[in-house]
Amino acid sequence: MYKTFLAFLVGFICYMSGYYGQKTEQTDGMTVTRENMQVALTFDDGPSVYTSELLTELKKLGVKASFFLLGQNITGHEEVIRQMKADGHLIGNHTYEHVSMKAVGDEKAVELIERTGNQIFEITGQYPCFVRPPYGEWKEDLEYTVCMVPVFWSVDSMDWQLQNTEAIVERVERQVEGGDIILMHDSFETSVEAAVRIVRDLWEGGYEFVTVEEMVFR
Ligand SMILES: [Zn+2]
Repeated sequence: MYKTFLAFLVGFICYMSGYYGQKTEQTDGMTVTRENMQVALTFDDGPSVYTSELLTELKKLGVKASFFLLGQNITGHEEVIRQMKADGHLIGNHTYEHVSMKAVGDEKAVELIERTGNQIFEITGQYPCFVRPPYGEWKEDLEYTVCMVPVFWSVDSMDWQLQNTEAIVERVERQVEGGDIILMHDSFETSVEAAVRIVRDLWEGGYEFVTVEEMVFR
């Protein structure tokens, strides 16, 4: 009951911020400011054996990212999740199993989200406020039921399919603009390598990396 109340409270506060997961509006391009050069790197499906290496690299680069954890991958990776929190990354919920929230009944969907929320709470002491639905498939009613903010993406790296560092970097850098949310997965070595390259290149191009929460509350 306590946990349910906490989840509700956190979700409600986030929801009241008025964020609905859309891509940030762009300016007319006449004025480029630091603010509209913000991008958010997001990683789904972890933790995995590559997550620790990614955290080390992000720390060296001084970059905060957003991780949407898959509940069924959490057990055995508690230490890396604690590190994620200590390093200041945003920890979000990617549900327990990788199924579409549209393919299961509402009761099951809520169960899969809450199960992962509870796991994250047990490890970090904090309920995730943001949910990334698998495949980006979501039913609007669910956000009222679980009181969480769904987060989608505007640049899909296709890293899970490409599994080629060069190709991932090229694809992301070709598409990215200020205000973008970049979708990646910390389940592949090539994704870790690509993320490092993308951060370095975009920094040089004047971009700033923020968590999805920082993008929402800016
Ligand atoms: Zn996923």
